[in-house]
Amino acid sequence: MPETDAATGPGARHLLQDYLERLCSELRGLSAGEVATYIPELGRADPEGFGIALAMVDGTLAAAGDAAEEVTIQSVSKPFMYGAALEALGREAVMARVGVEPTGERFNAILLDEENNRPFNPMVNAGAIAVSALLSDGSPAEDELRMQGLFSDLAGRPLEIDLTVFGSEKETGHRNRAIAWLMLNSGMIEGDPDAVLDLYFKQCSVLADCRDLAVMAATLANGGANPLTGRQVYSAPVAQDILSVMATCGMYDYAGQWIFDVGLPAKSGVSGMLCAVVPGQFGLAVWSPRLDAVGNSVRGIEACRRIAADFGLHAFAPHLDPGAVIRREYSSAEVASCRERPQADCALLEREGAALRVIELQGPLYFASAEKAVRRAGALAERGGTLVLDFHHAGSIDRAAAALLGQLPAALAGRGCQLCVTGLGPRHESSGLARQLEEAPAGHVTRPAGIAEAIEAHEEALIARAQPPREARLARLSGAALFAGAAPADLAALERMAVRLSFAPGERIIARGDTARAVFVLAAGQVDISAVAPDGTARRVSAVGPGQSFGEMALLEDAPRASHADAAGAAECYAFPAAALRELLAARPALAAAVYANLSRSLAARLRQANRQIIALD
Ligand code: GLU
Repeated sequence: MPETDAATGPGARHLLQDYLERLCSELRGLSAGEVATYIPELGRADPEGFGIALAMVDGTLAAAGDAAEEVTIQSVSKPFMYGAALEALGREAVMARVGVEPTGERFNAILLDEENNRPFNPMVNAGAIAVSALLSDGSPAEDELRMQGLFSDLAGRPLEIDLTVFGSEKETGHRNRAIAWLMLNSGMIEGDPDAVLDLYFKQCSVLADCRDLAVMAATLANGGANPLTGRQVYSAPVAQDILSVMATCGMYDYAGQWIFDVGLPAKSGVSGMLCAVVPGQFGLAVWSPRLDAVGNSVRGIEACRRIAADFGLHAFAPHLDPGAVIRREYSSAEVASCRERPQADCALLEREGAALRVIELQGPLYFASAEKAVRRAGALAERGGTLVLDFHHAGSIDRAAAALLGQLPAALAGRGCQLCVTGLGPRHESSGLARQLEEAPAGHVTRPAGIAEAIEAHEEALIARAQPPREARLARLSGAALFAGAAPADLAALERMAVRLSFAPGERIIARGDTARAVFVLAAGQVDISAVAPDGTARRVSAVGPGQSFGEMALLEDAPRASHADAAGAAECYAFPAAALRELLAARPALAAAVYANLSRSLAARLRQANRQIIALD
């Protein structure tokens, strides 16, 4: 078993370890209760023995006290065998032989639901024996092998059977024998009752320690998949059925009080073993052989009660806050794409940009949080336009959330709003949402690569709708934004200085760190400017089109290049040697004034946009 877990780190594990050790030493003081002696072999247990273990659904384990002491699991075997029967025969066949109603009677009561001709539930002896009957094929050796295989799969390691305890139970289990024969008499079980009882006594005699049992419980918490081995021991619906019966019937005739106080599905056994499950999170196991009058471990009950109270684990306490599902909201008027645009286009986008709205989601998506998200999306859709729903920061998406979100494309299309979904990644794969979106009618939903791309496409569409297409190529230098307002003679001088350069798609024009030797004006194509993060990854921060310039900081400062510039497709540029351009500007004050004014205007526009963005994204 893993001693540390890289995902949570040893720090997290040790914290829990310390907690369990503290709890263990505090509860050792509890000396009430008696060790069970009705099975003579159980009477030999050390009354002071006390262990606790906790297994997270990612396989991280914390244990304290005598958690490595192997004891027989006794009645704790019952829910696991019940699951095996459900898995093998299906719900209907199992329900025909054993119900799911709590009895409120002793675990070994000779009490049967005669109206339905079956034991009340699989957690009392009668029900467990009926389950063993369903799993027995009449051959004790094969029954044993299969049963041992089940518990080994659950624990993630081979478990043995304590044959001495088995012998002791077989010899003294007259009451269980009476129950079996009674059920045979009324047709509740078929086959050889002795073989059935052998299987039942053997499952009670499986040896496990608290760590094993915590892993077994964590398997139930984990939708039936063993967190250590990944093996799917039960299907998720069967794991859920097991937990339901544990919640209502798992703690003998204390089950009602238990679910009221502690609020967790659990099962105890007369050896002093007890396991509890926090679905989706972890499995807990406690062993302490002193039992109360009902047959539950005194320290075991107290340990679970304390853990549930200390961490607020009661299943019916509200654990989730759906209110936090919307991370932030903004429009494309506040957060523009990184594309550099002529001033007229910028003004147009500022006026019309609000027609695209972004909702960034965060945290797990389940019924209540997804409902809030779709409600908000629906409200924004009333304004028409485009809605980007971003899942980049969203956690898991459960079935309910996928069902609600899957209805959005049609609902929004009906209101004249175009839905764009971004940020759905591999971790959302299992929800099936991506598949549902693919199946949506054409035009109801698009899947741009990210929010930036969605905004950029929206801007392009707005501009295309509002004005005739721009020239894809800069015909003359007078059209360059950097030289706007320059006199014809100055433009002629610039033309003479310019060097025409062509770049292949993807070619790097400027590399970060280079000495800044030239200022570029793009004549055709697109150039992407990327900043480099401290971890070395490049991120596109700007995109330049024909008529716009890049590398112009060379006019202002003598510093190495801060970003990369790469040709997005085939690109053609005018390059102006920086030193020569500076000299030209020094010699022609009117040109210098125009160029620096243009440069300032473009920097001011970028700053304004950056400020808007900071506020919107705060
Ligand atoms: N083997 C025990 C019996 O049937 C199990 C009882 C229990 O743990 O509740 O008596």
